[in-house]
Amino acid sequence: MAVLTAFSGLGGKSPAAFLLEIAGRRILMDLGEGPTPGQRPDLDGIGRVDAIFLSHAHIDHVGAIDLWPRLGCPSVFASRTTFDALPLLGLHLPPEACHALPLQGSAQLLSLPVLVGRSGHAMGGIWLHLPQEGGALYMGDWSRESGLLPFDPPPRAGLVITDLSYGDRDQALAEQAPALADSIVPGTVLPVPILGRGADMALRLSALGLSPVVCPQVRAELQGALPDLRSVTTPSEARDGDVIIAADTERPGDLVSRLIADARGWRFIFTGHVAPGSAAAGLIAAGRASRNPWNVHPRARDQIWLAEITGARHLVPAFGALDDAPELALALAPIWRPDRICPPTEESPIHADQGNHPRAGRERHHDPCPGP
Ligand SMILES: [Zn+2]
Repeated sequence: MAVLTAFSGLGGKSPAAFLLEIAGRRILMDLGEGPTPGQRPDLDGIGRVDAIFLSHAHIDHVGAIDLWPRLGCPSVFASRTTFDALPLLGLHLPPEACHALPLQGSAQLLSLPVLVGRSGHAMGGIWLHLPQEGGALYMGDWSRESGLLPFDPPPRAGLVITDLSYGDRDQALAEQAPALADSIVPGTVLPVPILGRGADMALRLSALGLSPVVCPQVRAELQGALPDLRSVTTPSEARDGDVIIAADTERPGDLVSRLIADARGWRFIFTGHVAPGSAAAGLIAAGRASRNPWNVHPRARDQIWLAEITGARHLVPAFGALDDAPELALALAPIWRPDRICPPTEESPIHADQGNHPRAGRERHHDPCPGP
């Protein structure tokens, strides 16, 4: 019987940390921090972990990887792009712990055959499919709308953990891009997470006639596209009236935090989740920032599509508030598994649980071991 334990990630926007026990292995899927500053998974009772899978290099999926020694220094599996991006977020793993997965196709995780595919959400972002015990699919964050990042449809799986970040929202990115362009005034900064959104935004805004300025990270992510766009490394290089797309690493001293402190009083537009207590929330409260939607997560129609193509019997909605998804809960009622415990049934021997699973609680912790 496969057992899923959500140490964090259910019931709202919270760091990802799901333990899947399948085929005799205990695999932790993601180990994030935030998006609320300082919000970390409570791993009490997690016990031994055989492997960690990192879906993509965003803070809320990898930010607590510094807890790796506490978990017994297990092997970590992710795409090469994800591993390479960890230092941008101030995170480090010893090379011998890192096992690179391809972006798509067959692979091995420990000794288990698995499938991976591109998630359309971030560069290097992948979903993970384990065919054992009726099939389990962890989508991480995903999107079918990026103009830059491909999405590979996943195979069938009895248990599917999906990304409910937008609840019932069904508006298309194709509608949001012109609305964002209309909202932009000279002297605006658009902070974006690393690994895709900034480059996609630069391409779409340029197609709408704007000429944004980009930071070096977004310039690299454009991979040679839009070579005429200026790039700025410091606030002093920016000109009055610039529209700046800047990667926000949420680290002190990065370009976004320096632009916030810059005396010229830049305006900001945030296009993602704004966490309480964050710098973004402070800027909005101070009247210096506003919000516009920009899809990097699935719409309601995408959730329905995922349920259909996977044939899921248990669909676990992660990273989103259930109050924002009443229509999806209704449409997917036979397979919707948002609750604390989904006991196994005869037709589907999969068990989902949230936090402090009693079996996990009886496991002993591995001794801490050396490493960063
Ligand atoms: Zn993400």
